[in-house]
Amino acid sequence: MVKAVVGANWGDEGKGKITDMLAEKADIIVRFQGGANAGHTIINNYGKFALHTLPSGVFYHHTTSVIGNGVALDIPVLFNEIQSVIEQGVPAPKILVSDRAQIVMSYHKDFDAYEEERLGGKSFGSTKSGIAPFYSDKYAKVGFQVSELFDDELLREKVVRVAELKNVLLKHLYHKPAIDPDELYDELQEYKKMVEPYVCDVSLFLDKAIGEGREILLEGQLGSLKDPDHGIYPMVTSSSTLAAYGAIGAGIPPYEIKKIITVCKAYSSAVGAGAFVSEIFGEEADELRRRGGDGGEFGATTGRPRRMGWFDCVASKYGCRMQGTTDVAFTVLDVLGYLDEIPVCVGYEINGEVTTDFPSTHLLEKAKPVLETLPGWKCDIRGIKEYGKLPENCRRYIEFIERQIGYPITMVSNGPGREDIIYK
Ligand code: GDP
Repeated sequence: MVKAVVGANWGDEGKGKITDMLAEKADIIVRFQGGANAGHTIINNYGKFALHTLPSGVFYHHTTSVIGNGVALDIPVLFNEIQSVIEQGVPAPKILVSDRAQIVMSYHKDFDAYEEERLGGKSFGSTKSGIAPFYSDKYAKVGFQVSELFDDELLREKVVRVAELKNVLLKHLYHKPAIDPDELYDELQEYKKMVEPYVCDVSLFLDKAIGEGREILLEGQLGSLKDPDHGIYPMVTSSSTLAAYGAIGAGIPPYEIKKIITVCKAYSSAVGAGAFVSEIFGEEADELRRRGGDGGEFGATTGRPRRMGWFDCVASKYGCRMQGTTDVAFTVLDVLGYLDEIPVCVGYEINGEVTTDFPSTHLLEKAKPVLETLPGWKCDIRGIKEYGKLPENCRRYIEFIERQIGYPITMVSNGPGREDIIYK
């Protein structure tokens, strides 16, 4: 059976932990989109890891980790991540990389940085991992696919063509040093050496695995609101973050995805620019940020402090709907135990009218949060294993949100560890 683990919001919902936990019973974990620009934080018996490219299944000996064709493949990052995981005592993971994945080139990162520099104050808050230039090139059909590394004639011709194209922008728009085609060719040869042992026809591999009844997890990066079509465009990422894209980015039939586990965090956080209706500021935000996640809400890749907010029912209802949610995993609930009262955003006021439907970006910019306040539970809920043993106000909070978003919360996460989970 194929299951997808995806995010309902802006990312950082705790997908890594949920995937790591579900991976115990899975055979194959597939990354199907995104790149090394976001990370998953995972805590297990080997230690604490921030993974950017490897799927969260690498810590189990029985799973195969797959980088699907939809991923922005950063080969040096992947290679270093494999080395560092092994160095920290994890058994060498089984890894497959799709021969149809495309490669993030060093110039993609340069272009990312140059564009941020050019935009100045109007920048998108890119992590400068080259993701937007990478996907632009993929769709402009000037990207390098892994399979092309193995066709020397094509490669020699293509590096000249690509350098010519890039150098126009480098020279006239950015006033930066030009790309030398020979250096580009050498870079690709380096990548070939690193990736060769892992290259595989992934869709064929998965077709066989599905036929054999294997348990397959598709692991999403970021969340619904960062989707280029359905998110807060243009403050979005460059590849689809939706479970539906899992079929394309892994190369499997859409009807094989039987369960869509959408991860929602018990409060909100976001990185980068863009409207964030339930955002809070000042000391209130600082305290939640300090206490949030596991050791604070700071970016796994960048260390940037995340923007904080109360739970947003409007955004989450929409985020769950766009994912096609069958199950909600409600995470990081333990963190809220310090609050006397917990505000929740239950509607958006836009031009004097209240709605619970998430609007497109130009209206979103005008939205003001309609808050409802629920009583807190004022205790530590870590270690609780049964739903019925949670404090009454905590259950009320969960059930209130479940009613507001309209999708079943079947899992509640009350700590960062694999075992910190309550099935409802
Ligand atoms: P992802 O990108 O969606 O995987 O999210 P992150 O890796 O940014 O995860 C959220 C952070 O919260 C990580 O540091 C996790 O270890 C932590 N975390 C996940 N679930 C829980 C939870 O239920 N309680 C607490 N306290 N921390 C959690």
